[in-house]
Amino acid sequence: MKVTVAGAGYVGLVTSACLAEIGHQVTCIDIQKEKIDLLQSGRSPIHEPGLEPLLEKNLRNEQLHFTTNPHRAYSDADIIFIAVGTPETRDGSADLKYIHVVAHTIAHYIEQDVIVCTKSTVPVGTNELIQQIIDSRKPPNLQVEVVANPEFLREGAAILDFFHGDRIVIGTRHPEAAAFMEQFYLQLNIPIMKTDIRNAEMIKYAANAFLATKISFINEVANICEHVGANIEEVAYGIGQDKRIGHHFLKAGIGYGGSCFPKDTKALVQFGGNLKQRYELLEAAINVNKRQQSLPVKKAKETVGSLHGKKIALLGLAFKADTDDVRESAALTIVKELLEEGADVTAYDPIAIPNTRRIVGNAIGYTEDIRQALQDTDLAIIATDWDQIKHLPLEVYLTKMKNPIVIDGRNCYSLQSIGQYPITYLSVGRPGHP
Ligand code: NAD
Repeated sequence: MKVTVAGAGYVGLVTSACLAEIGHQVTCIDIQKEKIDLLQSGRSPIHEPGLEPLLEKNLRNEQLHFTTNPHRAYSDADIIFIAVGTPETRDGSADLKYIHVVAHTIAHYIEQDVIVCTKSTVPVGTNELIQQIIDSRKPPNLQVEVVANPEFLREGAAILDFFHGDRIVIGTRHPEAAAFMEQFYLQLNIPIMKTDIRNAEMIKYAANAFLATKISFINEVANICEHVGANIEEVAYGIGQDKRIGHHFLKAGIGYGGSCFPKDTKALVQFGGNLKQRYELLEAAINVNKRQQSLPVKKAKETVGSLHGKKIALLGLAFKADTDDVRESAALTIVKELLEEGADVTAYDPIAIPNTRRIVGNAIGYTEDIRQALQDTDLAIIATDWDQIKHLPLEVYLTKMKNPIVIDGRNCYSLQSIGQYPITYLSVGRPGHP
């Protein structure tokens, strides 16, 4: 089948590479020429485990093409996936400007009947708007059906999620479009839920709201654990044994980040507010997350006093391991707060330095060598649970740092192993050491 994917970001690229891999002829279009040039040369502009080999292979066997040319992308597509960004606006609502542009462009360039499938996360009612935009501008003889098909992939495990997702949601009331989509996804052998457009749109927001709330919930429990001498890992395990609760997403830390949870939770709060239906639980989850991201610097000040002039290693910049994405990363909050305190910061990350530098510039030092980051420091803060950090021999903190004080925002080490070293160690929801 001839597939076009609009947007060569995390969702668009993974979708393009994986659909090419299962035999479709895929054209991925983006408006950023530099991105497309890079992709045409077989390199990925993003880091996603397993993505680059899939891109290379399918470019080579001509299953996958990249273009900035809308005529080439849209004129003869059987199905078009919209995977453009829906960033946050100032009031927290989803910015739909890229969606509007892509809908206009599709309407202008299509030359045959087509299914348009929205993977971007969009507020309820947006797919109906996309349908209206396309219907009012397309050639009158062509039939276009817009389907909501929200994306649930996790950065860092996106390829795995594409092939082994928990479910595929198809939102349309049009029986032929529903049957077409079902057939399209059949070979993936993933449970398919067919529903209407508004339900599909709402499922995506509700899923992210629930997961964000779950994280803020366990972080609140963790903060109490710290005050009563309990250990959040034991507590989380104990509650997770209850099948109604389950073990997933009960890891305490310094909060969620990334390109989805922060913006989608705020969009849902804003959306509810517009309807005079305040979503108070989610508002609280958002506030808890904000507070959680500030905990490391608060703990640092409580431990060493003023941070002014202190040499601090920040270990990890990505919002989570296995991605180079730093959007809304807790590390960025930590950088901002450390700079406000007048600290001298050197950050370590294996792959997220270029993206961080674009935001933070040279206000901090950077290194891809964790030992170098720790050299002669007064304090280390862990913001991402990279394997390179989790597997660092703990002696390194003793041999490299001026004062071995570690504030671990991701509970990277067992208390038992830390207990064998003279390291001052504060983690989240667990007793401190010594
Ligand atoms: P991204 O910012 O990484 O990529 C978006 C791409 O769209 C950019 O490369 C941009 O240049 C391109 N674009 C903008 N306008 C375009 C146009 N008119 N034609 C072609 N390309 C255009 O975004 P992302 O992280 O891939 O997210 C895309 C959507 O999917 C968002 O709505 C997001 O909420 C949702 N989503 C993201 C994830 C995730 O983990 N990143 C997961 C699920 C859903």
